[in-house]
Amino acid sequence: MDTAMPAGSLDAMKPPEGDVSRRVGDLGKAGKAVSAGLVGVLLLVGSWSGTSAAGPGSVDVNAARQVEHLSNLRPKMTTKLIPFHHKRKMQMARYSGRHYGKRQYHLNNPRVIVEHYTDGPSMMSAWWTMANNTKDIGESPGVCTHFIIDERGRIYRTVPLDLRCRHTIGLNQMAIGIEHVGTSDRQVMSRDRQRKASFHLTLWLMAKYDIKLRNVIGHGESLLSPLRYERYRSWKCMTHTDFSHHTMNRYRNHMRQRARAHGVLVGRRPHWVDIGC
Ligand SMILES: [Zn+2]
Repeated sequence: MDTAMPAGSLDAMKPPEGDVSRRVGDLGKAGKAVSAGLVGVLLLVGSWSGTSAAGPGSVDVNAARQVEHLSNLRPKMTTKLIPFHHKRKMQMARYSGRHYGKRQYHLNNPRVIVEHYTDGPSMMSAWWTMANNTKDIGESPGVCTHFIIDERGRIYRTVPLDLRCRHTIGLNQMAIGIEHVGTSDRQVMSRDRQRKASFHLTLWLMAKYDIKLRNVIGHGESLLSPLRYERYRSWKCMTHTDFSHHTMNRYRNHMRQRARAHGVLVGRRPHWVDIGC
């Protein structure tokens, strides 16, 4: 997840052993993203369905179609929220102040989806790691992600999408985090139900918030993202290897086809950056 690994050759890097909390890392924020996403979906559905908003009636029709479209894309999920009360919100706001320059715990405009794997034995071990709110790299709050997908493809909603989570250094201010129970991205992608659940959930989030495919990344790609921003110089090159660049290239290739089949815009090809790590 978040944290303490200097980056070198991404594919060659090994995550810290047996430390589930470190793999979770920073999560993101989601508050105003809902309204922005709604606009994106309205435009998307209008374009996808070949209609245009030519008047108040058309807008209503498009809005209804958008809601229906999103509803159809939404995967089944179980709500199992971790405790995220006032104290943790204030910790997240202060973390944001230190690392992003503005105290805020809301995730207002998610622009990135980060895929992780837990490197732990079960959904509940990851859930408890998030719920315990243990300091990570000496700072509060603890790590978390918005979703956990277990090995059988069951999706658990763990944090509301309008709250930031610590799961990816430099991107928590704008990223939704998805954890996959497993010990490698190869293992996760080899499980049919878990892989399909991941694609399903990610596509719904792309449509809901108008997130482009180039910003669907693995934790191991975080240093390559042009959107990454981190104020701590000593954290400049910190990242983790879950999921790797290699796996995510295949992931995005599949998502491109799936998105087109479901009328979800994918946007331009990825533009990676080299920050000299
Ligand atoms: Zn991770």
